[in-house]
Amino acid sequence: MKKKVCKKCKLFVEGEVCPNCKGNAFTNNWNGRIHFLKVKESMIARKMNVEHNGEYAIKIR
Ligand SMILES: [Zn+2]
Repeated sequence: MKKKVCKKCKLFVEGEVCPNCKGNAFTNNWNGRIHFLKVKESMIARKMNVEHNGEYAIKIR
């Protein structure tokens, strides 16, 4: 089964609330994944507006 992703910030979330943005809207409709270990040093993370380390989906619908 595919993991769910926060619709707002694209973080993979296990519980009912996103620990990153506190959002509670999720989707299973995502494509690709990327793991950020050092968001502060990552150009891609900055482009995606990612502020916390973790695993994110690249695209969601
Ligand atoms: Zn979120």
